[in-house]
Amino acid sequence: MSRKTKKTETKSIDDSKYKIETRLIYGKAVSPSWDYSHHLTPPISSTTTFRLDSVERGAQGFAEFAHSGKVKPDKTPIYIYDRLGEPNKDILEENLAYVEKGEMAVTFTSGMAAISAVLGILAKSGDEIISHHTLYGCTISLFNNWYPKFNIEVNYSDLTNLKNLEEKISDKTKAIYLETPANPNLDIIDIPQLRKIIDKINDKRDEKNKINIVADNTFATPFCQRPIELGADFTVHSLTKGISGFGTEMGGAVIGKKKYSDLLLLYRKDFGAVLNNRSAWTILTYGLPSLALRQKRQIDTAQKIAEFLESHKLIKYVNYPGLQSFKYYKLSQKLMRDFDGNFAPGSMIFFALKGKDAADSREKGRQLMNYIAKNAYTITLAVSLGNTRTLIEHPASMTHSVVPADKLEERGIDPGGVRVAVGLENADDIIKDIKKALKTIE
Ligand SMILES: *Cc1c(COP(=O)(O)O)cnc(C)c1O
Repeated sequence: MSRKTKKTETKSIDDSKYKIETRLIYGKAVSPSWDYSHHLTPPISSTTTFRLDSVERGAQGFAEFAHSGKVKPDKTPIYIYDRLGEPNKDILEENLAYVEKGEMAVTFTSGMAAISAVLGILAKSGDEIISHHTLYGCTISLFNNWYPKFNIEVNYSDLTNLKNLEEKISDKTKAIYLETPANPNLDIIDIPQLRKIIDKINDKRDEKNKINIVADNTFATPFCQRPIELGADFTVHSLTKGISGFGTEMGGAVIGKKKYSDLLLLYRKDFGAVLNNRSAWTILTYGLPSLALRQKRQIDTAQKIAEFLESHKLIKYVNYPGLQSFKYYKLSQKLMRDFDGNFAPGSMIFFALKGKDAADSREKGRQLMNYIAKNAYTITLAVSLGNTRTLIEHPASMTHSVVPADKLEERGIDPGGVRVAVGLENADDIIKDIKKALKTIE
């Protein structure tokens, strides 16, 4: 069968008529990046360089790279070299853009590479970024340890309260950066409200100086929330977590407007943090097609665990967007919706144990996690999240240890707080293991 016949045959399928969870299994019915005709699953593309046929084709490939305006959207790309682009990453990027409701996606070697890339194209020396004060530890480290060397100022603010934001924005502000739910305490930020404030300011600015909102959606995954739909300009991900889903791949992605795709591709080409083909293939083949199934299961389990913890006499508080007692319950209901519009409060829980004082609460948390590390079957002491296995960790000593002990509280992080990333085990089994561990604290 000629390629042409195949194209006309499959092109009659309108994939927009199908649900997102189905679409994540099949991808677009026809993609120009898909240059294999009869595979159900695309092969892992393991070539670093591509045969170019003629000098003219080579020259054409270089002329078209990162010049999307000059290339017809449905044209099969001229692949040159892995770091510029190759089929596995291109197909994954199409699916990531689709599921996050963006116009384009560019993948990177890790979540941190994606965060550095999006801020790398938005801010230059002399510019300012305003960031929510509660963030993943390495993002804080990037902002505090490296950006001063680039003369980029990061001003922290509590974005759960947007009242005073306008006063903090200066002519030099180029980006607002946030995670929602935030790592580790699950602060929720009202993106639609933030959008309104930024629009008002942007109205008075020329195109080059507009402020962009960048939201790290790693905790929620696109199944639970699509920040671009809510008003963000860019969504970033650590694909390492819930999107990859099995704890076997590292990756990152930036999703946003088409006009930024060329800059991001150039940035990736020159700074070099390119996603490994094999990881791209794995996320495309296992991660995204199983995302909805895994997230539904993890949400159900997280809700049960959160309710159990909340009812336990040794627990001081539980932060989980699905609990009515959660400070941001109403806002979470507005923002966190699955593909069908159901409330989708995610798979992350943050809680603390009661104690005589803060130090005692922290000590009890330490005992609980150490007991679990040695004795629990269904819970593992480990960083990361969105895994098949349930993981527990202590942010103040692990993922957020970059924050000095006396600065934790002003960043909204309880020094005694315990973070749970729910996996795919049976909920009652996980609760059984937590119950057993809590008994040793009494
Ligand atoms: C893990 C994580 C990152 C960093 O991702 P890597 O893939 O480990 O580089 C960024 N943001 C959040 C919220 C994370 O949890």
